[in-house]
Amino acid sequence: IGRHGGQRTTAGFEYNGVTFDDRSVNIFAGLCAVDSLESVDSMMAALARCGINTTRMGAYKPRTNPYEFQGLGAKCLPWVFESAGKHGIKVVAMEVTNPRHIDEINDALKQAGNPTGVMLQVGTRNAQNFELLKSIGQQRAFPVLFKRGMGITLEESLNACEYVASEGNPKIVFCLRGVKTHLGDPHRNMVDFAHVPVVRRLTRMPVCVDPSHAIGRAEAPPDGLPDIFHAIGQGLIAGASMVLVDFHPHPEIALCDGPQALRLEQLGALQRYTTIVRGAY
Ligand code: PEP
Repeated sequence: IGRHGGQRTTAGFEYNGVTFDDRSVNIFAGLCAVDSLESVDSMMAALARCGINTTRMGAYKPRTNPYEFQGLGAKCLPWVFESAGKHGIKVVAMEVTNPRHIDEINDALKQAGNPTGVMLQVGTRNAQNFELLKSIGQQRAFPVLFKRGMGITLEESLNACEYVASEGNPKIVFCLRGVKTHLGDPHRNMVDFAHVPVVRRLTRMPVCVDPSHAIGRAEAPPDGLPDIFHAIGQGLIAGASMVLVDFHPHPEIALCDGPQALRLEQLGALQRYTTIVRGAY
């Protein structure tokens, strides 16, 4: 990742017709967890209406509580890739928690028979799952979205990316998503977007911010924008070039992280906000 004399990442990269570098801004708005074909299709249609060609879709969910919805797994991959093909979505960010999931994704992409790309997401809970990191590094087909460990140092998270890069996959985006503290917080996590310029200074990875998992609530003051928008602003001003945001057609019945999901009607506003903030500096 540009440190320790290890394998170097490129300073940004192009994948499936989408550029990930310091100058681009990529909005990965989508479902934290796929729960139905209808949700997938409504989400992708909303993206297409806004001219956004990237999304996030969770099939394999690493839940803290084993009795909560665990994601639909391989069963929902055909919905995701067929709908992505139909709506012209170029890259789907998707978390994998086991190397076997990479094969399942490859198979489903082949079955769908369209040119959709996938960015493999490493979740915060797997930030130091070194065998998973090595497997993801050994496959060269897909770029990687690495989410910083929520309870480890930044240095440890950067070393984790080195595990991916040193196995031969230099296409890594580093994602800040908030960290845990013992101090309590009005948000789900302590927003750590002041680390964006630090990561950019120390490495050559493009940086993503995930305001949904950092803030954890989609609320807004009566006359203002949701906290999530403001966190996006902080991240973009600090130099992030990718944003991962949770949406759901019906947040009140979402099976995972509903309280932090924005509504599809807010997608256009988010896109305009992103363009204005990015254009302002
Ligand atoms: C997610 O993005 O769906 C997710 C679980 O995020 P994190 O790993 O940051 O908690």
